[in-house]
Amino acid sequence: MPEPLSAATPIEFLKGIGPKRAEALTEDLGIRTCGDLLFHLPFRYEDRTRFHRVAELVPGPVQVQLQGVIRKIKEVKQQRGSRLEAEFADEAGDVIPLVWFKGAKWIAKNLPVGKPCVIWGRVSDYKGARNMAHPEVISMQEAKSASALHPVYSSTERLGRFGLHSNGLGQAVARLVHQLKEIHGAHWIEETLPEHILKLRGMPGLAFALEQVHRPKDTNAERLARFRLKFEEFLFLQLLLVQHRNRQTVHQPGAPFAQVGTMFNRFYEERIPFELTGAQKRVIREIREDTRNGQHMNRLLQGDVGSGKTMVALLTALIAVDNGYQVCIMAPTEILAQQHHAGFLEMLGDLPVRVALLTGSVKAADRKPILAGLEAGEVHLLVGTHAVLEPAVVFHRLGLVVIDEQHRFGVAQRARLWAKAEIPPHILVMTATPIPRTLSMTVYGDLDVSVIDELPPGRKPIRTVHRTDAQRLGVFGFMREQIEQGRQIYVVYPLIEESAQLDHKDLMDGYESLTRHFPPPEYRLSIVHGRMKAQDKDTEMQRFAQGVTQIMVATTVIEVGVNVPNASVMVIESAERFGLSQLHQLRGRVGRGAAQSFCILMSDKELGKEARRRLETMCRTQDGFEIAEVDLELRGPGDLMGTKQSGVLDLKVADLIKDRALLEDARDVARRILKEDAELDRPAHALLRVGVERLRASRPDWSRIS
Ligand code: ADP
Ligand code: MG
Repeated sequence: MPEPLSAATPIEFLKGIGPKRAEALTEDLGIRTCGDLLFHLPFRYEDRTRFHRVAELVPGPVQVQLQGVIRKIKEVKQQRGSRLEAEFADEAGDVIPLVWFKGAKWIAKNLPVGKPCVIWGRVSDYKGARNMAHPEVISMQEAKSASALHPVYSSTERLGRFGLHSNGLGQAVARLVHQLKEIHGAHWIEETLPEHILKLRGMPGLAFALEQVHRPKDTNAERLARFRLKFEEFLFLQLLLVQHRNRQTVHQPGAPFAQVGTMFNRFYEERIPFELTGAQKRVIREIREDTRNGQHMNRLLQGDVGSGKTMVALLTALIAVDNGYQVCIMAPTEILAQQHHAGFLEMLGDLPVRVALLTGSVKAADRKPILAGLEAGEVHLLVGTHAVLEPAVVFHRLGLVVIDEQHRFGVAQRARLWAKAEIPPHILVMTATPIPRTLSMTVYGDLDVSVIDELPPGRKPIRTVHRTDAQRLGVFGFMREQIEQGRQIYVVYPLIEESAQLDHKDLMDGYESLTRHFPPPEYRLSIVHGRMKAQDKDTEMQRFAQGVTQIMVATTVIEVGVNVPNASVMVIESAERFGLSQLHQLRGRVGRGAAQSFCILMSDKELGKEARRRLETMCRTQDGFEIAEVDLELRGPGDLMGTKQSGVLDLKVADLIKDRALLEDARDVARRILKEDAELDRPAHALLRVGVERLRASRPDWSRIS
């Protein structure tokens, strides 16, 4: 080895590892260096100071420890190889069978048959009797020095074959720490946090923390150790994100919207059809603050379905227009883009604001004047889908981009919008999927967040119930009553890519069955699904919106944003197959008018645990933030944000859900530090700077998430 062993040393050079094991460690656990091994922390601890008695054992997932002797071992031939059977008798003379299905020969050779020993394992139920498969056999000496907090590490089968199962990993860590101490003494690993930060929260140094987390002397030491490691992880992440955001907003110029002018004022005085809610007013003020003095706005607007985000977008757009800038509003679907376009035209009335619509289905001939108008600056407000990203779309002076329902737009696409103006346009991202605060602080750490937490007045809560297929006729009866009262109904079917063929069939079967139960001419049904042409979809949507049809049968195409206030019933078929946020979005399609609205979740009787939790949550609450928290718990952060690949949420020690209070704390600390020392130039912050730079280098992708 050329250099003395340190955290940076490739794991291959740790005694007992070597190239083959190193390769497996890297591939299976991402461990490349000795430092990585130190940060492969136990995921739980076992109490190895307690012994059980055979008489009290019951089958179950809990590991137990027994003291006694192994006897009567025999190899039994089986189809492939042989298995090893034995008996274990404890001090009271009670007996439990042991069995090994693999490695019989090797194990037989090494078992301390007839000598007092300790075994550790799970009791299972085998043909009505208890036994223990593949117990771990521990020498008496080892058992005597055992701790109440014996570390358990995650490992893989392959690593197990290399002797690097949980205990093997623990031994490797112990060896490593021992060697590092021999070489470097008490400071066997470089400290990563400055003294004053450690003092701030009464945290131990890194060497102590790592040692105690791997081999805790007691529960308190373990907690303190873990606290320090989590805090550090959150602190560096927050320093990085807050610093990035500060750099973007403070040093990045944005189009100055210095004044509120004629368009905004005329609209506000003459055209606005209702009083803004307090929350809408507050958000407009926040946006106004961001944009008035030439700073760049990068703001996420969260507001539940129906909270009136569109009006905020329109008012912001008018401020941009008043300052001589163009606005681009992007929607994720054609239908939604059309609806926004139509809605804006109607709301603006005779105000001299020119609005254009650009989607994939706008024909070349109609495109030309729009593109020319945009380039000349005559079109003020462009509403569209992905089509607006095409290179042919050139703005005269783009000052604001509004992105509706952001989760459908990739980061790269957003970046393309930036390129369409000299000064990057202000960005307002609107989402109806509330993002738990913990997540918005990490994933969207560099966005400011506004929240509309108030619905327009007069909305009645939607009544949500869960019904099974056996109750379908009752549901049909209820639908008839509602139609008699002049209401309209959505019936939605799941559509999942992997099962698209089958799902499509379900939709068509369902539609057919509905036409039988709701026959013409008394009833009129619409259907919209992904295999229809955009134009046909649009016609059907229009027919439903105008009240020509009473039932809209659809796949999730209606998920985002469609507004038909007279629709008061949402029936969701196979509701157990939808995610929580989807269900919440769908439900948001009703409850927009004055009538009492209903959401009926249809499912099989048999439900998995998670599915039941989702449906229960839907029936219990309508609060989008609460639903988002449950969703986060059920699905985990990576899945929720579609950022699994990004590595942004790859936390090693901390847990976004369980440790959210700590995350908030770390964020506050990060903010305070950066307020005083934006670039971490001060000597007292030197270590912090090193940590942030290391993190930045290790996650080249992180900044592209927002
Ligand atoms: P979302 O936030 O889901 O996009 P919308 O902007 O589509 O919600 O608004 C839902 C409905 O509420 C629309 O019909 C809109 O005109 C209406 N609305 C918005 N703001 C108000 C308000 N302050 N008072 C009354 N109705 C409002
Ligand atoms: Mg909307």
